[in-house]
Amino acid sequence: MIFNLAVFLCTLTAMEGVGYLAHRYIMHGWGWFLHRSHHEPHLGALETNDVYLAALALIAFALVALGRAGHAPLQWVGAGVAAFGVIYVIVHDGIVHRHWPFKPRPRNRYLKRLYQAHLLHHALKGRDNSVSFGFLYAPPLHRLKRQLRERRKHQ
Ligand SMILES: [Zn+2]
Ligand SMILES: [Zn+2]
Repeated sequence: MIFNLAVFLCTLTAMEGVGYLAHRYIMHGWGWFLHRSHHEPHLGALETNDVYLAALALIAFALVALGRAGHAPLQWVGAGVAAFGVIYVIVHDGIVHRHWPFKPRPRNRYLKRLYQAHLLHHALKGRDNSVSFGFLYAPPLHRLKRQLRERRKHQ
């Protein structure tokens, strides 16, 4: 049980790193054609960017299925990936972008910092020069603002 919990928590933590790298180098790289919808004015309930979320769900599902087929710890890796997806949707879609009919507010310091940091991610238009690619961890805001100022100069 403790081992499974450790696998779950390690996966959840590692997913922030995976998410950061994917956002920075894939979604703002060759995968920009899908992510782009998220950096443009929002129209409907869904955006092409949601393909990434669907891919995440498929990966989680596949890992759990493999786990059940005999590679036991993979179930917990899958659960960690799924948990990251759920937390991401609540924080990013619900609290930051407020895509839902009811609008939860960022109440504590941690959520406020994530909220501000992600708004900074959306501060510059286009694929390049963005800052703050993380989802559930945000560096100090003054550092992000400094990066943003430097990148604006190069735009
Ligand atoms: Zn982005
Ligand atoms: Zn966003």
